[in-house]
Amino acid sequence: MMLDVEEYSVSSAKVYLIDRSIKGSHGIIASYLVVGPRGEAAVIDPGPSRGHESLADTIFHLLGDKGRLKYILLTHIHLDHGGGAGDLLEYFPNASIYVHPRGAPHLIDPSKLWKASLEILGDTARLYGEPKPIDKGHLHIPRNEESISLDGATITVLYTPGHASHHMSYILGDTVFAGDSAGTFQCSTLYPTTPFPFKLVDAISSIERMRSLKPRRIAYAHFGIHEPASELLSLYRQLLLDLAELIWRLMREGVGVEELASHVDMATGMVSGYKECMRSRGAEYMADQIEQSLQGIYRFLERFGPQHRGVAR
Ligand SMILES: [Zn+2]
Repeated sequence: MMLDVEEYSVSSAKVYLIDRSIKGSHGIIASYLVVGPRGEAAVIDPGPSRGHESLADTIFHLLGDKGRLKYILLTHIHLDHGGGAGDLLEYFPNASIYVHPRGAPHLIDPSKLWKASLEILGDTARLYGEPKPIDKGHLHIPRNEESISLDGATITVLYTPGHASHHMSYILGDTVFAGDSAGTFQCSTLYPTTPFPFKLVDAISSIERMRSLKPRRIAYAHFGIHEPASELLSLYRQLLLDLAELIWRLMREGVGVEELASHVDMATGMVSGYKECMRSRGAEYMADQIEQSLQGIYRFLERFGPQHRGVAR
């Protein structure tokens, strides 16, 4: 089955935004196929295991030759981004999988990742599907700022910790493929992607690092290509700082982690807005993510707040 695709030009490459429609949802999880001027290609974030057959069909249709897919570039190993990497490799055995050094062991032996995903995401993890183990020989662990050439179109790796300690983004020309490091942009609104063990200070540095490169567009994993990038990055930075300040205040008022979402919703409308957005796109399975993100900020402040009060102010 072919998935919905949108085509963009970035530098000398073509970028295809592929909608990884899971369980009939749309506009929720993106995979990006980047094709160099002579047909060499990379996929950025294959997405979850579930539905990988349609992704493989779509990539094959766009490339015409499976030998052309040289790279599977993961922003991070969470199931909705890297869960399908092992499945995709079976279709495109010439590809090497790029992953941060801290993520690599969990691709080779995904049992801990799977167990943690079941604990945190429950049925949503089952919906995404269990990741396949990947032979070490297929992995490549890039250095920060290492570059990849697709027939001369250059993709640069950028370590962007915060959402996860093993998060990387990829830069092609004026576009940053930001995974979850620049938030999620859905229903024309920016929302936090900050589940435990989110690190606020690292996330802010990563946003500033991306902004310093003066990109024009952001390719969000959730969802789509949007601009102006520097404004969106500033807005996301401010959103994180405002949320940290609000949550820090609520904590001092004695609000517990269970009641956090309703208090934040009273102050911002963000929780109901996000849930409504997910419902409108057929993605009830993602609706709880907003609570998990708020709890991630709460847990960060609980552990590091006293040292980082300046960040939250
Ligand atoms: Zn994600």
